Amino acid sequence: MLNATRRGFLRKTLGTAWTAGALLEQSVLRAAAARSQAPAAPANLFTIEKMADGVWAAVAERATFTNCNAGIFELSDGLLVMDSHSKPSAAAALLAQIRKEISGKPVRYLVNSHFHWDHTQGNAVYRKMGPRLDIISSEATRRLLTEGAAERLKTALESARKSLDDAKEKLAAAQTAEETARWQKTVADTQSYLREMQDYRPELPNVTVRGDLTLHDKQHELRIVFRGRGHTEGDVVVWSPSRKALATGDLAHGSLPYMGDGYPRDWPNTLTAVGMLEFDKFIGGHAGVQVGRQRMDQMRNYIEELTEAVLDGQRRGKSLEQMRAEITPSSLKSLGGGYGEAVAQPAALAAGVSSNVAQVFGALRRG
Ligand SMILES: [Zn+2]
Repeated sequence: MLNATRRGFLRKTLGTAWTAGALLEQSVLRAAAARSQAPAAPANLFTIEKMADGVWAAVAERATFTNCNAGIFELSDGLLVMDSHSKPSAAAALLAQIRKEISGKPVRYLVNSHFHWDHTQGNAVYRKMGPRLDIISSEATRRLLTEGAAERLKTALESARKSLDDAKEKLAAAQTAEETARWQKTVADTQSYLREMQDYRPELPNVTVRGDLTLHDKQHELRIVFRGRGHTEGDVVVWSPSRKALATGDLAHGSLPYMGDGYPRDWPNTLTAVGMLEFDKFIGGHAGVQVGRQRMDQMRNYIEELTEAVLDGQRRGKSLEQMRAEITPSSLKSLGGGYGEAVAQPAALAAGVSSNVAQVFGALRRG
């Protein structure tokens, strides 16, 4: 809608300059009103931010189905993109945005940092770009994308259907226009996700690495680096030594970590090793670009302290429920110094830590 000032401005400029001012003004206002009621062009799913020459971060906007961030590296004859988001249409949207805002060069490499759905479900869009494109991951990630994939997808779609029913109920009970709009969006997003994922087939990496892989390029040498188990069994990071920039997937980022598929005994050491790479900025799988290594160190210390606390509880014969009650934001030193506030809203932090305790508890049984 036009606000009063704008309407006043139109009345003044149009009304004084034209004899048939009032009439014209009305038609201008009607056209403007029609435009404001027309469905808006879909907003970008990402904000693209330059990290260094030839390196960008695509920072994901909030979405009903979380998209991960992407790291984008320009080589002399093409681009390397790290991670492909939660659904093919999100990957396609990023590619369109890259064309518009970064470069028309073709994507030569897609790297999957790890196997999680919100980092890999757009792979098929890249695969369609032709035989010159390689999808690269660690060997473990390719195996994890295959093992149990059908079961995981089935569970995810069942849970999306449940959330749809829940969102429909919330919509029916909505009290305010704001609540109605919020639940309408959730219902529409969930329906379109379910439609899109109906015929989903996972697209696997065609190049796998066990250790490091160097892409030699006259413009920009890149290294795909594996330093051990962490957020999953097979996380890799992409490193540009010359531009001192790093894309880290979910091994390190600016949100509270998800630890359900993790290796909490190994993760801190893996982060110590990744932290030895020379970099000024890194983009993790979630939250924004991180300047310096502070957030990586804080995340490392949090994972280490939390894991120690759970191991200590186990040694003392405590149950998971006891540990969830006792290990809290205020009991963890590593959440001080601004880290807790930076990674979660105050109301969500306690629940997040409690989930992490349960995730570590489960993960320690695995190894
Ligand atoms: Zn993940």
